[in-house]
Amino acid sequence: MELNLQFFGGRGASSGGTGPYGGGMEDTDTNVTVRSQHPLTDEISKGGGGFANEIMDTRDAFEREYGSAVKNIKLSVGTFNKPGVLGAYGQDNLIMNQRYVKNANLTDAMKNTDGFHPSIGNKTGAEAVAAHEIGHRLGEVAAQKAGISQRDIVQRAGKSVDIKTENMAGHISKYARSNYAETIAEASADVFCNGSKASKASQAIMTEVKRILK
Ligand SMILES: [Zn+2]
Repeated sequence: MELNLQFFGGRGASSGGTGPYGGGMEDTDTNVTVRSQHPLTDEISKGGGGFANEIMDTRDAFEREYGSAVKNIKLSVGTFNKPGVLGAYGQDNLIMNQRYVKNANLTDAMKNTDGFHPSIGNKTGAEAVAAHEIGHRLGEVAAQKAGISQRDIVQRAGKSVDIKTENMAGHISKYARSNYAETIAEASADVFCNGSKASKASQAIMTEVKRILK
């Protein structure tokens, strides 16, 4: 199957976005645009099956862990201009690519990224992608609340585990090195999927995010 995991991140991690889903700092992803979208609840009312519930449950799990920052995310399914994009987050919208989210092979593909993304543990591909995109939301809201940058969040976390800021991403995944928003999103997926087995860098980042949000 064709699956360009390089575009996992979608776009729109930056709060300084320009368009309706405007991405700012995701340099690999800024040309991604949403072509169509419909609410995830439509899928559920149509009997949309497992993946829709997996995404809802992931959002609920994050809300229990990190609080109300996650509550108002609008969950959608849609299509993108770049076929390889698995999901995107921007401006309160989390959009999963319908091409992949309904595909059972997504989980297999996500299991074998050769370090490009963190291990998905015993989670499904849809859950891992949702956890990454929700991580964008958390990074954005935490930075805003603390009045600091997402880099500052990674730096603070790095101090707690004695890892230099610029080396943190390398402990998480290759894609985490794209920029600091992706570092936090990948840490979010790592901790959600792997719990206490996640990298120490990921755990430190999400501990710092939680500390700010709580
Ligand atoms: Zn991303």
